[in-house]
Amino acid sequence: MIRENLHEVEERICAACARSGRSREEVTLIAVSKTKPVGMIREAAELGQLDFGENKPQEIRDKYPQLPPELRWHMIGNLQRNKIKYIIDKVCMIHSVSSPELAQAIEKEAARIDRVIPVLLEVNIAGEASKGGIAPGEALETARLTAQLPHLRLKGLMCVPPFVEIAEENRVWFANLRKLAIDIAKENIDNVDMCELSMGMTGDFEVAIEEGATMVRVGTGIFGARV
Ligand SMILES: *Cc1c(COP(=O)(O)O)cnc(C)c1O
Repeated sequence: MIRENLHEVEERICAACARSGRSREEVTLIAVSKTKPVGMIREAAELGQLDFGENKPQEIRDKYPQLPPELRWHMIGNLQRNKIKYIIDKVCMIHSVSSPELAQAIEKEAARIDRVIPVLLEVNIAGEASKGGIAPGEALETARLTAQLPHLRLKGLMCVPPFVEIAEENRVWFANLRKLAIDIAKENIDNVDMCELSMGMTGDFEVAIEEGATMVRVGTGIFGARV
């Protein structure tokens, strides 16, 4: 099942890239393995899938030692400050920097192990009251603050737009995140390159790619529904 699913997602990524005149190499597929057992992750890894996303620090901490060291772990979920220490030496990127305070706390832990960690700012692009993330109007200021932290390297923006049945409805939010990244890039802040846009999930990753996503986070479409 994982083989067929990965194949289908791959074909859909290729088609979306072709439609939008982009090269397949511009888009990284992150397989979101939250709640799924290490056996399934190993199966995907053996098929060549090396980027995995998790939304709980404890889950990364527990799965990491059981799996091959070449896997790349992406922290994509809400991160409490006291849990940064579980993942700081394990992740290749933290997508969910949702406040200046969290950036500061990551700086402290990264400094402790002398590592520079790539990060994205999570933007609450649709201004949903139920969601975390930085308000679009505060993203530039947060980018400036993050740029001053020597153990963080700001690489771009991430968003989780509303859950919708019709993917097209999220196009506007993906387009807005891209515009925001361009606006921040124009400021030419030292230590910041806005080259990554982490957006798009199982229900809407094709639209996200058409709007410039460089990282798509697909869980259900690869591993099946979560119970
Ligand atoms: C769970 C999750 C995903 C993947 O969702 P699917 O709809 O299963 O593809 C992507 N991003 C984040 C932040 C998530 O928490």
